Amino acid sequence: MNQNMDMSTNPVSFSSPKTTRSSSAPDGAAPLVVNADKQGKPIIVVNNLHKRYQIGRTFVHALRGVSLEVLPGEFVTVRGPSGSGKSTFMNLIGCLDHPTQGTYWLSGKQVSQLSSQELARVRNRLIGFVFQGFNLLSRASALSNVEMPMIYAGLRKELRQRRARQALQLVGLGARLNHKPSELSGGQQQRVAIARALVNSPSLLLADEPTGNLDSRTSVEVMAILQALNQHGLTIVLVTHEPDIAEYASRQITFRDGRLVRDEPVANPRDAQTEWAVIAKQNIDEAL
Ligand code: ADP
Repeated sequence: MNQNMDMSTNPVSFSSPKTTRSSSAPDGAAPLVVNADKQGKPIIVVNNLHKRYQIGRTFVHALRGVSLEVLPGEFVTVRGPSGSGKSTFMNLIGCLDHPTQGTYWLSGKQVSQLSSQELARVRNRLIGFVFQGFNLLSRASALSNVEMPMIYAGLRKELRQRRARQALQLVGLGARLNHKPSELSGGQQQRVAIARALVNSPSLLLADEPTGNLDSRTSVEVMAILQALNQHGLTIVLVTHEPDIAEYASRQITFRDGRLVRDEPVANPRDAQTEWAVIAKQNIDEAL
């Protein structure tokens, strides 16, 4: 039997019912997943966002006046051909870069004019990132990888370890705390990366092709986790070039030539958790 095969049919284990920002976590720290107020104000408001890059004397107009709002608790996918501005848009809403023109309000705060240092603070406090290549430290255990953002946030070791353990349990990896990335399957590595993205209790999760390196079964496993987190209130914006991955979200937006050309709800999003339960059973049947 494949050691890395995860036989769990339940990709996410929320030990407690939905939590809210005001409810106190057992250890006094903020809950990992915040139950968004769906009636609340938009978490993202971008208005006429432009980004121009300069290479020598040449200007590349990567974003050409993008405006949109994302409400708390939405699950939005970003699609579009290569070069259409998806990464530029994600860098801007991820507070990794400044727009050339336009405004960006994140959680009610104007962030488009902040200094790089202030932007880093906002980013660490409000945003979790998940990448296609997992971006884990290869020599560090799952626990140490998940602890990392809390080191930057200045949390003491005991609290860091407790929260890292809690986050890994949440994504179903409570039994693999001391495994290194090479000792984990691709899906498990992405789960570690998701746990790492959650430890500072972000209001927003940004995922850049999180299933891009995974086979279709494992992609469903990862989407099941993201969907469950979203159902517990986490706002997610996810870049994907795969149309079937976009079917798990509640809203799809599409870029072309630096412009937002489509923005539509998904009428009946696919249910990754149900699909994953079927796949997990198939995995067991095949392995035994
Ligand atoms: P996508 O993610 O949809 O592939 P990008 O946002 O990466 O699109 O790119 C949009 C356009 O901006 C492309 O023409 C790309 O070459 C250009 N671009 C992206 N990043 C930079 C950069 N750092 N410097 C110069 N040009 C860039």
